[in-house]
Order: sequence, then C-alpha cells, then structure tokens
Amino acid sequence: MDKNKSFRPKKRIEKGQKGYGLRQIAKMTLGSGNLDLAVELPVGEDLNEWLAVNTIEFYNEINLIYGALTEFCTPESCPIMSAGPKYEYLWADGQNVRTPLKVSASEYIDFLMTWVESQLNNEHLFPTQIGVSFPKNFVSTIKVIFKRLFRVYAHIYHTHFQHIMSLGMEYHLNTCFKHFIFFIDRFKLVDQKELAPLAELIQQFRERGRERMERESAQKVR
Ligand code: ZN
Repeated sequence: MDKNKSFRPKKRIEKGQKGYGLRQIAKMTLGSGNLDLAVELPVGEDLNEWLAVNTIEFYNEINLIYGALTEFCTPESCPIMSAGPKYEYLWADGQNVRTPLKVSASEYIDFLMTWVESQLNNEHLFPTQIGVSFPKNFVSTIKVIFKRLFRVYAHIYHTHFQHIMSLGMEYHLNTCFKHFIFFIDRFKLVDQKELAPLAELIQQFRERGRERMERESAQKVR
C-alpha cells in the first residue's frame, strides 16, 4: 500500500511562477498548526492569487487521500457516488456533459478530479506568469471547484472512514478537511446546503475552532 500515491498527478507551482512565494507562506503558516491563521490572506497580498494557491493545494491534498483509497473504492463496492444514504450525486460538468450521468463513485471521482485538473491547467483561469491577472470568472469557477472537491470528502467520510483508519490516516484526513472547511468559511466559497452531508462534523470543527480562539484571547487578556 502506497500512501503517497496521488490519484491524478500532483499540480506543481514552479519557482518563478505566479503564486510560488505565496505558496511558501501558506506552507509556513499551516505548519504553525493554527488553522484560523493559516487561511487568512497574508497582509499586502493579492486575494485571487491566495485563492488560486490554496485551490491547488486542496486539490493536491485530496488527490493524495483518495489515491490511497482506490483499491477500496471500486465500481463493485461503490456502484453510486453517495455521501451516506440521503445524498447521491450524478455527474455533469455543465460543459461537455450536460445530461447528468449515473456512474460509480470511482468513475465520478475520476471525472471530477480530471475536470478540476483541467481547470488548474487552464492558463487563462490560473495564469502562471507573473503580472498576468486572473479572469473575471475566476471566483465563480473556484466556487464550483470547491463545491465538487467537497463531495470527495463527503464520500470518503461516509463510505471509507474505516479504510482511512486502517491506513492510520484519520488524523491527516481530519486536518485536511478542517483546513478546507475553515478556508471555505473564511471566503464564503460554498453554500451551506452543499455541506449538509457532513454538517455534524463541520459543526464540531467550527465549535472547537471558536473555543480555541476564545481560550487564546482570554490568555492574552490575562
Ligand atoms: Zn467509494
């Protein structure tokens, strides 16, 4: 079992490309372990560039997590793309596939990750050259990316958490997902109704985040 196998190839930001410096900052603040701080736009930096760098990182993270699960998520084990008994997703990208397709979870996630990858590789949408600005539809497009990436987390939590535990990846999964949620919350990227399949878990993360902040500000006052 290779826990470092990415499902789709990792998306890299090379030195000299737009976002490289910000990505270093993002890594550093994330390393501090304070997720409230880690999602904040660093002072003086461009918001779209920050959104772009983080979108790429979240894609890479979920790529690795799902990459470790491919042997468990098969058309036989997961004939539909679901997030618990109440939520089922049909695939349509609104561009090439307009009529929603009922496909297995693994096919759905393959379509989804390939679609995200093609957005990230679209030079017009995610410019790599310094000085080139982001298009007007940038934020509306990344909202769709985040909405779709959430579904991969929802499927993993509902169907493959046992497998995650057997791989010893639960702490990593929770940390990545919590970071993802805090980021979505901070920049209002996904409608609450889309988050419903994991509402309870998200509520716990938010409450613990709030308690931590209150504790820390109380310490500062003292
Ligand atoms: Zn599955």
